[in-house]
Amino acid sequence: MIRFLVLISVVLTIWVFAIFGCKKHNDVVPEVVIGSLYYTQSEADLIFDADSTQSLNILSAFNSADSTILKKNSRSVKVVNDTTKFLINRMYRTISLYQGNIDGITAPEIGINRNIIIVKRKDKTGTPFEVFINPKITQHSNASTLYHENCITMLGAYPTDINRYNLITIEYYSSNGIFHSETIEEETASIIQHEVAHLTGGVLALSFDPLAFTGMEIDSIMFVPDSLPMRIYLTTSNSDSLILRKSSIDVRPDSTNTILVSLINRMRKSLAASSGGVGIAAPQVGINRNIILVKRLDKVGKPVEVYLNPRIVMTSDKIINFANDGCLSIPGVYKTTVRYAAVGIEYDLLNGTHKTEVVEGYSGNNFTAVIFQHEIDHLNGILFIDRAL
Ligand SMILES: [Zn+2]
Ligand SMILES: [Zn+2]
Repeated sequence: MIRFLVLISVVLTIWVFAIFGCKKHNDVVPEVVIGSLYYTQSEADLIFDADSTQSLNILSAFNSADSTILKKNSRSVKVVNDTTKFLINRMYRTISLYQGNIDGITAPEIGINRNIIIVKRKDKTGTPFEVFINPKITQHSNASTLYHENCITMLGAYPTDINRYNLITIEYYSSNGIFHSETIEEETASIIQHEVAHLTGGVLALSFDPLAFTGMEIDSIMFVPDSLPMRIYLTTSNSDSLILRKSSIDVRPDSTNTILVSLINRMRKSLAASSGGVGIAAPQVGINRNIILVKRLDKVGKPVEVYLNPRIVMTSDKIINFANDGCLSIPGVYKTTVRYAAVGIEYDLLNGTHKTEVVEGYSGNNFTAVIFQHEIDHLNGILFIDRAL
């Protein structure tokens, strides 16, 4: 008896689903079915709020309501479907507003959390825009390239540095319902990776690294080749002084970040080109970032080492007067400064390792503790003349 009731209820369930299933084919009057391939009422309201020749509004990652939508995971769609077709037409229309100055667009960017992307095929003649429905990246190369990307949801922002795989295999459907598995390389692959990331809520602004180098920083770091030193900023120039007196911000340790690596290489050149320099801080080359290079007078071979995000976390009770303190940014000036005999420091290495260390040496051939204090002061806009007796 019980078994019979269960059977009836199963049959009823199937029947109810079958009825709903039939109705779904009429997409002009879509119904709300959460979690299905079919569009919800609110999605349909947005898609059909104007005819298919009208563009849709691009959401802004800087608007909190919009960014909530941009952060959501998107769902797949029924490929051969009037609503999907209508939506794609409107996405193409939206692209046309940008007159070619756009590499791709995704459904979430216009407020529909669905797996549809349109990508400029830079690997094809005429660079046509092509639609990828329910795309899935199934394989990728290990090798990657650093791109400076921007996004239509964050117009006016500086580009973000981001690594993209050089080659991907992507499975998707074209709008005629045909399944494709395609291997795509280089810039087009990078565009697809950007757009596919939107389908899992990965917007540049939201995964946006607040420590990413700004466009202005990138310009000044990459303007000339690595082999050349960067100009040393001097207190005799008003505009240089403003940079030297500003507090710096951290950098994200990353040995694959070519901008960061270039900056360090060029700081090395600047230090090497100076006469008798034993340390340099990034603000001294015009970049307000927490990076210092210190000649380790306390180590064999006196290597110049790189410290990212260094901080003094401990100071000795002993305070000393350090004679002839001087600075690359204030040439020809030497003063006796008040310093700690030893300091405890924390910092990051380029590969991301976080370290703690006690540094000693304040006189004679080893004044490493003083160098660290001098260089870390630079990161806080403090110059040695501020510490002078
Ligand atoms: Zn984007
Ligand atoms: Zn200095």
